[in-house]
Amino acid sequence: MTIYHSVTDLIGHTPVLQLHKLDAGVCDLFLKLENQNPGGSIKDRVALSMIQEAEKQGLLQPGGTIVEATAGNTGLGLALIAAQKGYRLILVVPDKMSREKIFHLRALGVQVVLTRSDVGKGHPAYYQDYAQRLSKEIPGAFYIDQFNNNANPLAHRTTTAPELYEQLDGRIDAIVVGVGSGGTLGGLQAWFAGHSPHTEFVLADPAGSILADQVETGHYGEAGSWLVEGIGEDFVPPLAMIDGVQKALRISDREAFTTARELLKVEGILAGSSTGTLLAAALRYCRAQTSPKRVVTFACDSGNKYLSKMFNDDWMRQQGLISRPENGDLRDFIA
Ligand code: PMP
Repeated sequence: MTIYHSVTDLIGHTPVLQLHKLDAGVCDLFLKLENQNPGGSIKDRVALSMIQEAEKQGLLQPGGTIVEATAGNTGLGLALIAAQKGYRLILVVPDKMSREKIFHLRALGVQVVLTRSDVGKGHPAYYQDYAQRLSKEIPGAFYIDQFNNNANPLAHRTTTAPELYEQLDGRIDAIVVGVGSGGTLGGLQAWFAGHSPHTEFVLADPAGSILADQVETGHYGEAGSWLVEGIGEDFVPPLAMIDGVQKALRISDREAFTTARELLKVEGILAGSSTGTLLAAALRYCRAQTSPKRVVTFACDSGNKYLSKMFNDDWMRQQGLISRPENGDLRDFIA
C-alpha cells in the first residue's frame, strides 16, 4: 500500500465500478467514482490543473491570491489546494448558497465574500463581475475564471480520459456526461478524438437547460429551472465543444433524484444530484441499445451535501417529487 505525502496527491486515479444491479439492458455500464476525490468531486482535478498552469505561466507567485466566483465544488477543490500550497483564496459567493457550504469553505481558510443573488451578468454585484473586479484591485491576484480557463478541460484531457481508457481496456462505446463549465465534456472529447474516435458522447441534460436543444437543433430559447446542482446552463459554455455531441437526453429532477437514491440503495454509492442525471441518461441510453455496448458515466460528487435535500423524504415530498403513501402512514419515512 502506498503512503501519500499530500492530500493533493490523492486527486484523480479514481476507481471504476461496474454496476451489476441496475438494469442496463444489453450493455455493460460503468461508473467512475469521482466522488472519491479528497474534496469530494470531479472538480478537484480541475482546481489542481488551473492552479498548476497559473504557476507555470508565472500568473501566480508564492503566497499570492487566487480569486474565483463559486460556492460549488470548484470552490472546495481550490480551497483544498490553496491551503496546501499556501495561497490566499477569495471566493465570491451568491448569498442564496447554503450555510453549510459557506461554513465548509471558511473552515478551509477561504475568505468568502457574499454578494447578491438577485442580479444578472453586467451588474457590478453579479458574482462573476464582482470576482473579476476584485482580482484587478488586489495586486498580483489571479482570477481563475473556470468557464474560460483552458486548464479546466486540460485536466480531463490529461488525467480523466487516459485513466478511463486504461481502466476499461480501451473498449468504450459511449460516455455519458453533463455540462456545467463544459470542462469535462470538452477535455474528454479532445482526448478521445485522437485515441478512440468511435466513442460516442451522450449529453445528460437537466430538463429546462438549453444544452439539449443546442445539440438537437443548433439553437435554443429561454431556459427553464431545475433543482439538480452543478449541471445544465442557460447558455453554451465555450469549453464544452458541444458541436461534437450527437445525442442528448433530457432528465427531469424527479428521474435524476430517484436514480441517485436507487444508486445508493442498490449499489451502495452515495453520490450527488448531477450523478442522478448522468446515470438516468446512461440507463436510458443502455436500455435503448439492441447490441451490447460498453458505456461509462461519472459519480461527479459525493452525496453528503444532499442529505437534507434529495435524500430527505420530507424535502422530496415538499417539492412534489415523491407522493405520500396511500395509507397515510409516515412512520417508515420518519428517521
Ligand atoms: N457535477 C457537479 C456536481 C458539478 O459541480 C459540476 C461542475 N459544475 C459538474 C457535474 C460539471 O462539470 P463541468 O464543469 O466539467 O462541466
